[in-house]
Amino acid sequence: RLVKHFEPRGLFLKKKSEAAVRAVDGVDLAIAAKETVGLVGESGCGKSTVGRLFLRLLEPTSGQILHKGRDLVSLTPKELEERRRDLQIVFQDPFGSLNPRMSVGAIIGEPFAIHRLAKGAERERRVARLLDLVGLPRAAADRYPHQFSGGQRQRIGIARALALEPQFLVCDEAVSALDVSVQAQVINLLQDLQRELGLTYLFISHNLSVVRHISDRVAVMYLGRIVELADADILFKAPAHPYTRALLSAIPPGHPRAKRDREKLKGDVPSPLAIPQGCRFAPRCRFAVERCRSEDPALSIIADGRSVACHLVADGSLSVPPRLSPHS
Ligand code: SF4
Ligand code: MG
Repeated sequence: RLVKHFEPRGLFLKKKSEAAVRAVDGVDLAIAAKETVGLVGESGCGKSTVGRLFLRLLEPTSGQILHKGRDLVSLTPKELEERRRDLQIVFQDPFGSLNPRMSVGAIIGEPFAIHRLAKGAERERRVARLLDLVGLPRAAADRYPHQFSGGQRQRIGIARALALEPQFLVCDEAVSALDVSVQAQVINLLQDLQRELGLTYLFISHNLSVVRHISDRVAVMYLGRIVELADADILFKAPAHPYTRALLSAIPPGHPRAKRDREKLKGDVPSPLAIPQGCRFAPRCRFAVERCRSEDPALSIIADGRSVACHLVADGSLSVPPRLSPHS
């Protein structure tokens, strides 16, 4: 890809002492401008940590977070504050992040106050424009969060995230708390906003159908690592990594096969305090061979252009299915 405008890349968290929680343990991910990258995996796999690292809300143990050619890790606090205007986050629970005692207008206008960008009538004008943008009536400015539905509150959270005209939004389970029909509305809003404003998204979710719908590319995380990275269509039609196969075969939930398939993903995710030797998926992998228990597979590009971290996929002995067969 030639787009280089926006490029957080090369997050690498080194192994620390044995007692350290290796929440994110060597992640390398480049996101192009105006792209949506979905980040999926079971809870506790490090998805949210990656999102927060990208925004430099957390400090990496080691590694770089490149944004427009600058490493966010090396910025002074003042430079970082300036950069943060470009990088915003939308959380799962807008109620938890919206101050119940502040009017919606004050909530959306707060970033202008913090960054001393606009006040008085100018601030009100900008808040009104943001309400238009997310499809809320302008009268909403004088009301309070509890007077709105979950979907409307999420629109308020999105309006606030957009106040400083960011380029990059991390959506961390941004629609997961909403009813399915409301989810679709908020997803459509996010897609409209992306087209209109040229936004770039890192879309973190455990909801695979939502991720499939919104993402250009999808990264699958397991125990602090990306194990597969591919175009969304390719990944969902023909998952290559054994973990991705197991994860995807667990859907759709209403399907008669769903329960049986779900059982294939045996056992719980090991604790990030005790990451298995070799391939970290080996204890749960039905394809595991001897080599898997000693050698840690690197994320490498395979023939069809996607990246996979699996010895057997890399050496061709585990073929990538043209599509997931019903008996696999
Ligand atoms: Fe399974 Fe081995 Fe591939 Fe790991 S490297 S996913 S254990 S086959
Ligand atoms: Mg999370």
